[in-house]
Amino acid sequence: MTLSALNADVIVDKLNTGEVTATDCVQHFLDRIQSHNGDLNAFISISESAVEQAESIDQLRKAGKPLGCLAGLPIAIKDGICVAGQPTTAGSKMLEKFSPPYDATIVEKLKSAGAVIIGKTNMDEFAMGSSTENSFFGPTANPWATNRVPGGSSGGSAACVAGRLAPVAIGSDTGGSIRQPASFCGITGLKPTYGSVSRYGLIAFASSLDQIGPMTRTAKESALLMSVIAGFDPRDSTSSKIQVADFLKSLESPLSGLRIGVVREHLDEGLDSEVNTKITDSISVFKQLGANIEEIEMPHTKSAIAAYYIIAPCEASSNLARYDGVRYTFRAQADDLEEMYRNTRGQGFGDEVKQRIMLGTYALSSGYYEAYYLKASKVRRMIKQDYDEAFQKVDLILGPTTPTTAFKLGQHTQDPLAMYLADIYTVSANLAGIPAISVPVEPSSNGLPIGLQLQGRAYEESSLLQAAHQFQIATSWHTANPSEPWRTQS
Ligand code: GLN
Repeated sequence: MTLSALNADVIVDKLNTGEVTATDCVQHFLDRIQSHNGDLNAFISISESAVEQAESIDQLRKAGKPLGCLAGLPIAIKDGICVAGQPTTAGSKMLEKFSPPYDATIVEKLKSAGAVIIGKTNMDEFAMGSSTENSFFGPTANPWATNRVPGGSSGGSAACVAGRLAPVAIGSDTGGSIRQPASFCGITGLKPTYGSVSRYGLIAFASSLDQIGPMTRTAKESALLMSVIAGFDPRDSTSSKIQVADFLKSLESPLSGLRIGVVREHLDEGLDSEVNTKITDSISVFKQLGANIEEIEMPHTKSAIAAYYIIAPCEASSNLARYDGVRYTFRAQADDLEEMYRNTRGQGFGDEVKQRIMLGTYALSSGYYEAYYLKASKVRRMIKQDYDEAFQKVDLILGPTTPTTAFKLGQHTQDPLAMYLADIYTVSANLAGIPAISVPVEPSSNGLPIGLQLQGRAYEESSLLQAAHQFQIATSWHTANPSEPWRTQS
C-alpha cells in the first residue's frame, strides 16, 4: 500500500519500526505535491529543508537516540502560522516577502515532537473567507471536484489532506475555517476550545475568536496532533492552564449513556435537503452506539452570523492597522507619507480585507460603537448562555457543519452574504469559545462530501474526539478518497 493512503498514526508506527525511513516518507509526499499542486494550488510554498530534517531524524533513530512521538511525520501548516525562516504570507500580498524570525508555539512543539513541515498551505487572505478564493496566490481547488471550492479559510490545508499531498495539516478557525473546509473536503477538522492551543505566532485576524487546530482524515489523528499542540503557553496571554487531557486514551471509551442534543431549527430552515438526510441518518448511528438523542433549543444562534460579522471585522480592523508599510511588509511607492500609507494599504490588501477593515472601523467609531459592537457583544453573551443551558441537559450538540456541499469556484464571489451564510452553523462555537469538530458522513448523490458537526463543553475536546472516533469505527465515510486524476462536478 502506498504511503499516501495511510493514516498518520500508521505512518508513525512504520517509522518507529524502521519499515519506512523518514526520508522516504517525506520524499513521497514532496513528490505528490510536485505532481498535484499544479492542479490543486493547495500549497503556497514548499519547505526546502524538509528532506534534510528527515535525514537527520533517520540518523538519530539509527543512533538509538530518543525521538518525539511524531518523528519523521510530514505535516502541512496553514500559511497564517509563523515558521521561522520560511515565507508566511497569510495569503496576502502584504506579507508576500515576510519570513518570520521565530516559530509559532505550535510549530515549535510539532518540531520538537519530530514532525517535518513540508510546506505552507493556501488560505483566504488573513483568514477572511469561506472558499480560499480570497488568496493573493489564487484559489485552491477541491480534490473531490476541481471546479469547486475546498472551503475556507483553511482550504489549502483541507485540500492537501483530502488529496493526500500531506498526511495531516494544521489550520486555524475564527468562524469555521477548520470545520467548514473539512466538511467540504471530506476530512476531520477540530476547532479546540479558545485558550487550549497557543495562538502565539498565529497571524491575528480576530483575536477573541481565532483558534489553531488539527485537520486530518480521522479523529484519532486529530487526537494525536492535539496531544502535541495543546497546553499552556506563557507567550499567549489567553492560554489556559487547565490540565491537558489524555486525548488518545479517551478515544476508546464507548458512547453508552452519552446525551446528544439536536437543534430542530438547524435541520430545517435553509438546509440543503440532501445534507439534512445524511445528517439525520447519522443520528441513528449515534443511537446505535448507545447515545441518547434529545431535542434542545438555541434561540439566539439565529443571530450568530450578524454578531460575528460585526465582532470579527472590528477586531480585524484593529489587528490589521499594523500593516502600514513602515516597519515591515509590503510598501508602495509614494511621494509623501500619507500617500505611502494610502497606497500601501490600498495595493497590499485585497478587496475582502479592505471591506472588513472599513466595516470594522465604522462599527467601532464614536457614535456607532454602542449600536454595533456593544450590541453584537451582548448577542455573543446570549449565545454563550444558550450553550451553558444546553450543556446542562446534554453532553454534545450535533448538527450539520455547513448548509450545503462545496459550491462552485466563482459562485459566491460577487455575493458576500451568500458566502457568509456558509458559516451559519460554525460561528457560534467561536463566539462562545467552545470546541467543535466536523467529521465526514455519507456524501451527496453526486459524490460531494458532507460534514457533521459536534460541539462540546469548553475544554472537553476529548469527548468530541471520542464521539467522532466511535462514529468512525462504526462508519467508513472518512476512508473515502477522491479519484485520481481529479474530476470536476457540474
Ligand atoms: N468564513 C469566516 C470569515 O470569513 C470564517 C473565517 C475563519 O474562520 N478564519 O470570517
